Amino acid sequence: MNFTDIWRQHDFGEVSRRIASKTPADVGRALAKPRGRVDLEDFAALLSPSAGPHLEAMAQAAHRSTVERFGRTMRLYAPLYLSNACANVCTYCGFSAHNKIRRKVLSDAEILAEARVLKQHGFDSVLLVTGETGRVGTDYIAHALRLLRGHFSGLWIEVQPLDQDDYARLGSEGLSAVMVYQETYDPAAYARHHLSGPKADMAYRLGTPDRLGRAGIRKVGLGALFGLSDWRADAWFTGLHLRHVETVHWRTKTSLSFPRLRPHQGEEIPVTPFGERDLVQAACAFRLLSPEAELSLSTREGAEFRNKAFRLGFTAMSAGSRTNPGGYASEPESLEQFAIDDDRSPAEVAAFLRSQGYDPVWKDWDKTYDGFSRAVPAEAAS
Ligand code: SF4
Repeated sequence: MNFTDIWRQHDFGEVSRRIASKTPADVGRALAKPRGRVDLEDFAALLSPSAGPHLEAMAQAAHRSTVERFGRTMRLYAPLYLSNACANVCTYCGFSAHNKIRRKVLSDAEILAEARVLKQHGFDSVLLVTGETGRVGTDYIAHALRLLRGHFSGLWIEVQPLDQDDYARLGSEGLSAVMVYQETYDPAAYARHHLSGPKADMAYRLGTPDRLGRAGIRKVGLGALFGLSDWRADAWFTGLHLRHVETVHWRTKTSLSFPRLRPHQGEEIPVTPFGERDLVQAACAFRLLSPEAELSLSTREGAEFRNKAFRLGFTAMSAGSRTNPGGYASEPESLEQFAIDDDRSPAEVAAFLRSQGYDPVWKDWDKTYDGFSRAVPAEAAS
């Protein structure tokens, strides 16, 4: 069954009310479950207001589970923005089509200049990000992968949702992972915040992880933009999606992010509160639901918070991020998608992790593990 059909069986408001009705006894039962046995009802209890007083116990359990599975390691990554062109109107984003900003699509030389800066910092995997428009469609992304695959062992993308055949083609060009955040699973909020453009088709976006799994992409990233609707229900639906991918597409690894709304170009929008304590509760609940998923903590959050929270289930952190095309090398002043909060360099983040007994890891995967040929095309070698 496709996830979209599963999603249709649940009402967002009813899920919200069910989470709110969970009791301290439900939370206690969820916390007593052995590692890997937490189900979606337990997950609802761990996300509920009743779990608030149990946050310390949740944090300790999440930390133990993470160290058992991943050791004391933290994968570091950085986004490389290829373009800020976008055909969608999203209320919460600086790149939204209705904002009058200068649009830019990086040339080959600019992409390679950005890549050089990231390599100098030590990164061996990179997340390529674009707005969502045909200007940066499958051909452009395939070309970018070809340019970069000789330079990085892991190539991730966060771009518009594509068809299964497009993903299969990009996989053959060296694509390792795709981040496709649903933003919100609440259909009313989704319609309120996605006013026009292809992204307004909620069902197509919901079906993207299934298309990725069927195309054989190695890792898929899920998440909601917390603040667009009730965060507890959005987190539960993300957990439902995660369970679906882990069960149906079991060869595909999973990654989760916890983006919160950040200042951006354009009008302020009403936001449902999602504070740092809520983020910690959500991350711990996800770790207890899934011992295997990668949990990512981004530079949207401040250094002080990240320095405390990184032990609580997280296994990946962005560092030194720029959220504008050309931000590392050619156009540091161009418009950002959103403001980052932790502006430490990758070396500073790595030094902090080492001081805490953690190993920073700069690499995600090696193609030799799955037989992918790393032939370097002529244009990338020059
Ligand atoms: S969130 Fe993505 S799709 Fe929406 S305006 Fe921003 S770049 Fe475009």
